[in-house]
Amino acid sequence: LCGNISYIRHEVKQPGPDTAMPSQPASRPAHPVALVGAGPGGADLLTLRALRLIEAADVVIHDRLVAPDILALARPGTHLVAAGKEGFGPSNPQEAINALITGHARTGARVVRLKGGDPVLFGRLDEEIAALEAADIAYEIVPGVTAASAAAAAIGQSLTSRGRNSGLRLLTGHDMQGFADHDWRALSRPGEVAALYMAKRAARYVQGRLMMHGASPDTPVTLVENAARPDERILATTLADWPAALTDAALSGPALTFLGLAPRAARAEIPNVIQELA
Ligand code: SAH
Repeated sequence: LCGNISYIRHEVKQPGPDTAMPSQPASRPAHPVALVGAGPGGADLLTLRALRLIEAADVVIHDRLVAPDILALARPGTHLVAAGKEGFGPSNPQEAINALITGHARTGARVVRLKGGDPVLFGRLDEEIAALEAADIAYEIVPGVTAASAAAAAIGQSLTSRGRNSGLRLLTGHDMQGFADHDWRALSRPGEVAALYMAKRAARYVQGRLMMHGASPDTPVTLVENAARPDERILATTLADWPAALTDAALSGPALTFLGLAPRAARAEIPNVIQELA
């Protein structure tokens, strides 16, 4: 069934079925580290490849956002390590995570590094890949369903639409310097659609930038909290009302913010939509 699936394995050196590799040092780990997307919510949005890797893993190093029902798919005895940034104290938590991954991989264990959503988006993947390369450890990347996809599904909208927006921006509200800077002029144009990650605290800042660049105060802004989870909630508001609506809603879970996209009208009647009637 899966014989014709092709994907890049970033191998340091991998012996094929008919290749004897006597020169391979014994200390080199036999298994590539799998950098796996867990998707936005429950186990039913995992890929089959992610499932197989989790089931076969000796060690799963997971983000705080990964749901318990996904971790429950690991075999009994699998070493589950929570690598949420908080757990590591203030001094360079990413280095501690990198050391955890390379340390386990060096023992020859099957290591799965499990990240929320898709690991290729806002997941510090490059830092972990650089650490693996520096340690001469092979890896593979397994994509996942990103929060923007799950949030679009929740509001019943397409992320692109003929005649509305021919492209989509995926942006972060925060970067290492604080609130992230973006092309505000382009984002302010009518019809632009952007998916903002990690933007709950950036609402007032982004609102100010967009208004300054001429965006309409009526531009729809939609937040989806806990997308694809049982406690999913939708907050439909406008650019003008966004910060106040956010304060009122007191969202506590992870939230994806859409600029330029409102829930499909029929969705506005479902109970988890908090409608802002300005
Ligand atoms: N790699 C992840 C994103 C990591 S950044 C992905 O592809 O989805 C973390 C941010 O993702 C959160 O601050 C939030 O903006 C968003 N996010 C992650 N899971 C989410 C969910 N279930 N619902 C809404 N937003 C989510």
